[in-house]
Amino acid sequence: MFAARPCSVCRRWFRPDAMSGGRQQVCGAPECQRERHRRACGQWHARNPDYDPHTRFMIRLVKDEPAGSRSVMPLETIDWNLARKVVGLKVTTLVEETGKVILRRARDTGTVQPK
Ligand SMILES: [Zn+2]
Repeated sequence: MFAARPCSVCRRWFRPDAMSGGRQQVCGAPECQRERHRRACGQWHARNPDYDPHTRFMIRLVKDEPAGSRSVMPLETIDWNLARKVVGLKVTTLVEETGKVILRRARDTGTVQPK
């Protein structure tokens, strides 16, 4: 059993959980645990300033195009399965079908050459 100590968030005294190995600095109150998590996330992002989940998603979403990428259909470069997992079926279908309409219009006007 560890000696009681003040919570680093609310300053109320608490006894650290035996499972923490004496490292626990925050009491078990939900609001204190949320604050602990918020602080930990802030510290992690300060240590990892280059982490950008949006850019990482974009990189994963757009597949590498093979050399001579003109042979690849524009909509085939998107990982639609990943998109469905991340944003859901309805949004992905809306975006995919919108892309097809735009591509058809571009072909009709000669902006894009058909394969
Ligand atoms: Zn607390």
